[in-house]
Amino acid sequence: MLTEENRYRLVQEARAAAGRAFLTSPGGTAYGAAVLTASGNIYRAGQYSSFNHVTNVHAEQAALVMAAMADDPDVLALAVASTGAEPVARPCGVCRQVFAEHAARVGRDFEVLMACRHGDGHETALVSELLPLGWSPSQGRPAERPVDLRRALMRPGKVPAGESLESGDHVMLPDGCIAMVWDGKFEPGGSLVKLKYAPADGGLRKLAHSFTEPLRYQKELHDLGWIRQARCGARAAVIEASDVSTVFKGLQLGVDCGEPPGPLMDILCDVGVDKSAIRVSGSRAIGLQHAGSDWDLVVPIEENRVPIIRERLAAAVEKGTLAVPPLSGTWKLLDRIFPGGREAALLGRRFADTLLSGGASVTLMFVPPQPSRVCVDSDWLASGRAVLHGKVLQASRTAYKRAEYELKDAEGTIRVTCYHKAANLLRKGDVISVGGWLLRREDERRLIQFLPQPDRIVWWETVTGPASEESTA
Ligand SMILES: [Zn+2]
Repeated sequence: MLTEENRYRLVQEARAAAGRAFLTSPGGTAYGAAVLTASGNIYRAGQYSSFNHVTNVHAEQAALVMAAMADDPDVLALAVASTGAEPVARPCGVCRQVFAEHAARVGRDFEVLMACRHGDGHETALVSELLPLGWSPSQGRPAERPVDLRRALMRPGKVPAGESLESGDHVMLPDGCIAMVWDGKFEPGGSLVKLKYAPADGGLRKLAHSFTEPLRYQKELHDLGWIRQARCGARAAVIEASDVSTVFKGLQLGVDCGEPPGPLMDILCDVGVDKSAIRVSGSRAIGLQHAGSDWDLVVPIEENRVPIIRERLAAAVEKGTLAVPPLSGTWKLLDRIFPGGREAALLGRRFADTLLSGGASVTLMFVPPQPSRVCVDSDWLASGRAVLHGKVLQASRTAYKRAEYELKDAEGTIRVTCYHKAANLLRKGDVISVGGWLLRREDERRLIQFLPQPDRIVWWETVTGPASEESTA
């Protein structure tokens, strides 16, 4: 993506951006900055000087903020230029700190191009070179995650002839990466997947989690070369049948791999879940589990049963029969994104799909019992990114993989399809803002959401009360 030609062009953009600087006195030193992102966009800014000399916004910071506010934060390079006397434009210490935090956030040690005062040359340094031994927030996770899991345990499998992929299946790709199928029928001939493991040192490396570390996850997708242009216009991991070397179709609960301990299964059977239809997915399905591995269960269930299941599970948490897993990244993220956090989510019976039962962490992935149709058919036209604001009209299918809800905004009603867990928390009547990829077909609109960053859901108002009413309507 970064070539000498676009580096040169970016430096020229930064020089031009100095012409936009807001100065406090005519003839003052002007700074300009330009940012090139992985999606190929350029954001430019001059500095915004303040008369009190304290509240200045530096050009480099302004350009980074513009990229982030455009939902396009994965910066490949930032160029800075100045009309000052110094022979090369150097970013100040404050800006270097901003660069370092941004680089850590999106998982890319980007290039900083510093324009020479005379001529059209520049110097280049990585953010890590500009700020060695830098400060970082203490809550950050360790830089290296432990490798590895035992590849020898991998359960062999074959692509079933004529069978299509389903949510929760795992596939091995030709480069040895292992992915989970988010939607087997995302677009004609294409399945949407989430990458989970990549080959490393004779074993497998666990990749960043798409829900709790979406920016790092996007970076992994990009580096592994599994980003493609999807029909809806987004860049996502969409695979074709020819990309699949092995399919792991999941295991039958009980028969092939036992059951999770504790009372959870009894509660599920009690509310009418067909135990024989449940499949075991996740690390257990592909043979990579260790003693404390989570259980990922794919549960086919009618949409009107989901509120009843959540009601029972949440009540069991209140009684102490089941619990919230203390280390669960999902719950920690829900704490941050949902007003009132986990308590409000449990109390409202909005989410109880990741729980601790008999000491084991179990995640329920609800899927519709009937086969799904192609999500983004060829007659839909991509219209780029959009952020909508409105009220949720219908939310009974938000528990599912391929979560779907209806939103009423200023333009009318729109169906939203969401592939991250934040949609699970939606309830009819909530007022929200949502980002995603807009599609049009004549007068109809649709929005597709992939990752909680940048396709986020922000709650302005939430409703309380029972959830089961809407599903019977
Ligand atoms: Zn600065």
